Amino acid sequence: ERMVTGELHDNETTIELSLRPERLGQYIGQRNAKENLHIFIQAAKMREEPLDHVLLYGPPGLGKTTLAGIIANEMGVQFRTTSGPAVERAGDLAAILSSLEPGDVLFIDEIHRLPKTVEEVLYPAMEDFFLDIVIGTGPSARSVRIDLPPFTLVGATTRAGLLSAPLRDRFGVLSRLEFYEKEDLCSIVERTADIFETRISKEAAMEVARRSRGTPRIANRMLKRIRDLSQVKGEKEITLETTGRALDMLQVDKEGLDHIDHKLLKGIIDGFRGGPVGLDTIAATIGEESQTIEDVYEPYLLQIGFIQRTPRGRVATAKAYQHFGMKAEDNQ
Ligand code: ADP
Repeated sequence: ERMVTGELHDNETTIELSLRPERLGQYIGQRNAKENLHIFIQAAKMREEPLDHVLLYGPPGLGKTTLAGIIANEMGVQFRTTSGPAVERAGDLAAILSSLEPGDVLFIDEIHRLPKTVEEVLYPAMEDFFLDIVIGTGPSARSVRIDLPPFTLVGATTRAGLLSAPLRDRFGVLSRLEFYEKEDLCSIVERTADIFETRISKEAAMEVARRSRGTPRIANRMLKRIRDLSQVKGEKEITLETTGRALDMLQVDKEGLDHIDHKLLKGIIDGFRGGPVGLDTIAATIGEESQTIEDVYEPYLLQIGFIQRTPRGRVATAKAYQHFGMKAEDNQ
C-alpha cells in the first residue's frame, strides 16, 4: 500500500482511534474551520438547539472524521457514523435516522456516494426533520410521514463540487480543510510521539512534517515506521538521521513524493514536453483513473506548485523540472 496516500490503510483503524483528539482545543491547526465551528457550537448550545448541518470537505487524511467526532463531543451528544456507499437503500437511512436521539450528530463519510434515491430521503430529514416513506407498491402504495428528532448531519467529501446542488444547499456550515502548515504538522508528530511514549528530536519531527504532504494521517503513519527503525538502532530519542534514513528506505523523497508522483510528473515532462495535457490523456498514459489522479495524487502537487491547471490541461512547472534536475527550456 502507498505510504504517502491520505487514504486509510486497512490495518490502521485501531491506531487511528487511539490518536484522535477529542476536544476542539486538542485539534491542531485548521484555524479557520476551528474558529468558525467554535462560535457556531457555542451559539447552538446557548440556544439549546442542535448545531446546523455541517459539510467538511478536503483531501483524505486531513481530519474530517476527527472534527466530526469533536463536534459531537463539544455538543455533548452521541456520535453516529456511516458512509455514502454503506447506505444502499432509502430504508437503511430511515432506520439510522429514526434511531437517533435529539441533538445527535450523524456523520456520513463520502457523502457524495449516496445513491440518488437515498439522497432524496435526506432532503426533508435535513430541512424539517421528517421522513416521507412510501409503503407498498402499485395502486395500494401510500406515503407515510415519520417525524424525526432534530439532529445534526455532518457530511464529509473530498470536493464540495461532487455534491448535487440540492444536497449542498441544505448544509448551513461549509468548511474546507486545508493541507497543514509545517509547524502544525510538527506539533501533531510531537503529540503522536507522546501518545506512543517515544521521544523525538525537534529536527526529526520537522523532517516528518516536511515529507508528509501536509497530511496528519501520513505523518502519523511515517512516525510509526521511523520509530521501528529507531528502536532497532537502540536510540533513546528519534534522531534526524534515522528519520531521513527511514523515509529514504520507504522511498519518499524530500518533498514527500513517491514513485507514483514521479510517474505522473515525468509522464507530463517526458511524454508531453511538460504539457499542457488533458487529465484523461495523462490517466491513460500512466494507467490510473482520472478521478483518482484528481482526488488523491494531484491536490498536493498543485498545492506545492509542481503542477498547474490550465484551460488546455495540466502543465509541469519550473519547480517540477528543478526537482528532477532538469530545465523546462531544454525540453521545448
Ligand atoms: P479524514 O476523515 O479527513 O480522512 P481523519 O479525521 O480520519 O481524516 O484523520 C486522520 C488521522 O489524523 C486521525 O486519526 C488523527 O489522529 C489525525 N489528525 C487529523 N487531524 C488532526 C489534528 N488537527 N490534530 C491532531 N491529529 C489529527
